[in-house]
Amino acid sequence: MKLNINNTFSKELPADPKRDNSRRQVIGAAFSYVTPRVPSAPVLVHVSEEMLQAIGLSEDDKKSEAFLRVFSGAEVLEGAEPYAMCYGGHQFGHWAGQLGDGRAINLAEVVHNDQRWALQLKGAGETPYSRSADGLAVLRSSIREHLCSEAMHHLGVPTTRSLSLVLTGDEVLRDMLYDGNPAYEKGAVVCRVAPSFIRFGSFQIFAARRDTENLKKLTDYTIRHFFPHIKGGTSDAYVQFFAEVAERTFDMIVHWQRVGFVHGVMNTDNMSILGLTIDYGPYGWLEDYDPDWTPNTTDAQGRRYRFGHQANVALWNLVQLANALVPLVQETQPFEEVMEKISEGYHLKYMAMMRQKLGFQTEKREDPEIVDTLEQMLKATETDMTLFFRNLANLANDTNTEGNDAFLEVIMEAFYQPQALKGELLENWRSWFNRYLQRLQEEDLSDEERREQMNKVNPKYVLRNYMAQLAIDKADKDDFSLVDELYQMLKNPYAEQPEYQQWFAKRPDWARDKVGCSMLSCSS
Ligand code: AMP
Ligand code: MG
Repeated sequence: MKLNINNTFSKELPADPKRDNSRRQVIGAAFSYVTPRVPSAPVLVHVSEEMLQAIGLSEDDKKSEAFLRVFSGAEVLEGAEPYAMCYGGHQFGHWAGQLGDGRAINLAEVVHNDQRWALQLKGAGETPYSRSADGLAVLRSSIREHLCSEAMHHLGVPTTRSLSLVLTGDEVLRDMLYDGNPAYEKGAVVCRVAPSFIRFGSFQIFAARRDTENLKKLTDYTIRHFFPHIKGGTSDAYVQFFAEVAERTFDMIVHWQRVGFVHGVMNTDNMSILGLTIDYGPYGWLEDYDPDWTPNTTDAQGRRYRFGHQANVALWNLVQLANALVPLVQETQPFEEVMEKISEGYHLKYMAMMRQKLGFQTEKREDPEIVDTLEQMLKATETDMTLFFRNLANLANDTNTEGNDAFLEVIMEAFYQPQALKGELLENWRSWFNRYLQRLQEEDLSDEERREQMNKVNPKYVLRNYMAQLAIDKADKDDFSLVDELYQMLKNPYAEQPEYQQWFAKRPDWARDKVGCSMLSCSS
């Protein structure tokens, strides 16, 4: 197994001189060298073929003993010097100080086909940043991360990727519901892949420690490698860098809103500087359209990270990043100007996205109101978001709503309580559809063309929470067939794929309030 290793982060940024795994505050360094833990009986469960190729490996490599050893942490790749990154973060709105890779270990950066990829094991043991935890990960959260990373990519959402999923053969103790009932679960390791795993919190930790020298080193490094079109270590360059991070962050959020994804823990340590979705924990997919929904039981009180609040949180997080970068620019005004433009920009991006979901190619003054009313209707009627938008494309331009409810046939399947659709509610839907159909008349698309356009942005298949849970339940009994089936299906989320039709359905009733399906904690 040969990988083209080309480390930059650990070569160009300062290392912690201590080389043991003991928990500590790491001052004046961007990372600490660590050694992954040797698992007792590793078994390869699943590999993303695409990522295998992306990093320059073959099918034969995948089958080799070396692959399993390296990506389970049993053996250190030749030429690699594994390390854990130091970062801080605001958790649920409060500055938490040093966090860091408590259970992530970077193996190496590889370059293949001119693309740089950092490889990182998640769950391969403790590091100086593990605080009171064990550095391990359990099978259920690892399946969720592996499947969702790849599914998000194929949905067109910027995200970190996942190469492999390995069982370690070790047991890991977790109190899944934080209710004083810990139990042993199967341990697992995922190999995450991204151009870089630098987070907002990576900058924040240096700023919090008034370590401007290293803050500058890290920012210059990030610009040099990942924003190479921005030239020079000037104030303008740092502001431009910030503006681009903000832009990418909001692009990502708009994609989340488009597909119905709720991250669940948008702490600043979970915000990628590249605008990638990162750290798949208690995330979830909207089933019935409820902007107030969050799958994260740890956030059930404040619902800080609920679906409809994700753009606000992104903005808040960007303010924290701006604060961290201020020492490099020495004034706040340029950042404030960027923030102002960016929040306006978000609303435009959001509206453009919703137009696409609705099949509008042109821009009309009444669009914001049509979108707004629809959102209220979706909220008032328990409606499956994915089914609704996918089926909406089947409406015919000449559907007549006068005295006949033909539109209902098209979307009925999306309602969780179809019997509730009467009286005023039905009247409101009727009038919304009237308006929508009139609006479609202003477009120059045939039914067929519009359906094609809409089906490119409204996925047919997403990783519904209960689906991941079914795959986990099976995997717990050593049957990984559903992990692969979902992986295969989610490679083409916009295609019809009639063989997977059973997954184009509302959440079954048993999953409504089930742990793992609608309720997830941070325990992983
Ligand atoms: P998260 O909520 O997963 O983003 O984690 C927040 C912080 O806790 C990060 O610094 C993680 O590396 C660390 N962390 C989470 N789980 C563990 C664990 N099992 N062992 C060690 N550190 C952990
Ligand atoms: Mg994290």
